[in-house]
Amino acid sequence: MHLARFPRLSLGHFPTPLEPLTNLSRYLGGPNLYIKRDDCTGLATGGNKTRKLEFLLADALQLGAEVIITQGATQSNHVRQTIAAAAKIGLKTQVLLEQRVADSGDDYQLSGNVLLDNLLGGTIVEQLPAGTDMALAMEKLADKLRGEGHKPYIIPGGGSNPIGALGYVACAEELLYQSSQQRLRIDHIVHATGSTGTQAGLVAGLTATNSGIPLLGISVRAPREKQEQNVYALAQRTRDLLGVPGELPHSAIVVNSDYVGDGYGLPTAGMLEAVTLLAQLEGILLDPVYSGKGMAGLIDLVRKGHFGKDDNVVFIHTGGSAGLFGYRPVLQQAVKHG
Ligand SMILES: *Cc1c(COP(=O)(O)O)cnc(C)c1O
Repeated sequence: MHLARFPRLSLGHFPTPLEPLTNLSRYLGGPNLYIKRDDCTGLATGGNKTRKLEFLLADALQLGAEVIITQGATQSNHVRQTIAAAAKIGLKTQVLLEQRVADSGDDYQLSGNVLLDNLLGGTIVEQLPAGTDMALAMEKLADKLRGEGHKPYIIPGGGSNPIGALGYVACAEELLYQSSQQRLRIDHIVHATGSTGTQAGLVAGLTATNSGIPLLGISVRAPREKQEQNVYALAQRTRDLLGVPGELPHSAIVVNSDYVGDGYGLPTAGMLEAVTLLAQLEGILLDPVYSGKGMAGLIDLVRKGHFGKDDNVVFIHTGGSAGLFGYRPVLQQAVKHG
């Protein structure tokens, strides 16, 4: 495995810190919880998509692209980071947003990531109804732009293809290096999984290096079986791109979908607890859609005795705090009645 073979831009602040969650660990009575601060990647409030965009936008530049097309839910962190990254290299971004969350209110429609999308100079071409074939809609937009003489580059939702997943192969390398430096034996890694690129890249990196560290993805949308299949497929393709020999064992992909609640982007009691706990015990801002539900899963699994008392468990904070502002009413209520 030799990541430096792949074209890559420098878009963020790396390595991100690996820190103990001392107060939360004490509050829960063990295990030893740690947090990998991928919320601190530095690009316009940061997040996990920055790592993927380092490889994706390098590819776009190599192909001579002049305009980036991508898509996401209304409060997409991926869309916000894509617009910011493209701005940094002098490219414009055209965005299609999917109204995946019903009855979401003004804050959700206009504040948080949407406000930042506008501020960063992105063009929101259209808001499409939930369930739209967004990949097809992007192809149509690309055709239209090509017809007008432009050179578009399509980045899939969440930046999740083998090139984007290389960003999380890099994160796996970074984490293993930090664990050696800090002499920290990592027993488990936990994070939120959505469009699958984060988990697929981590799996590719953790298996190609023979790390033996188990990884758990907490789903924010799809049921376990479907998510495991999707992660497996992308992890295998990412290993192929890297030239890792052999077949990926199915046991390397583990997803838990018990913390989705009523659906993508819809608040759960566990998410509200996780967001307020991390804020008030650690001064760390999670987000309502991904890291809040991922952490809710981790906290519940700790309470159920899923981990050994002396295990070292690393939670990867994938970012998203800008999305908090889209959820102002429900968060204010949770704080008042907490
Ligand atoms: C996109 C996102 C995720 C999920 O990562 P995938 O690679 O899409 O699975 C997790 N957390 C946050 C904050 C995100 O924006």
